[in-house]
Amino acid sequence: MYIEMTETPDLSWQEEALCAQTGGDFFFPEPGSSVRDAKRICALCPIRSICLEFALSNDERFGVWGGLSEKERLALRRTTP
Ligand code: SF4
Repeated sequence: MYIEMTETPDLSWQEEALCAQTGGDFFFPEPGSSVRDAKRICALCPIRSICLEFALSNDERFGVWGGLSEKERLALRRTTP
């Protein structure tokens, strides 16, 4: 089903993203690569909870968001009603 977006999401929170300063390579690693470095950066990020909420709300499937890997976000979705 095609859903037309009528509003542009507010992404201004990303201006405080620590990953914007480090580059995205850590956050979208090749399959099987470690996400440890990305998680370390996320742990220090001031907008971690906002980032995670955004990823869950928008069903972001790839990369590390809010300190959680793809598998961890999937597990969280399955356990959260
Ligand atoms: S929590 Fe991690 S992925 Fe999200 S904005 Fe911060 S550094 Fe980037």
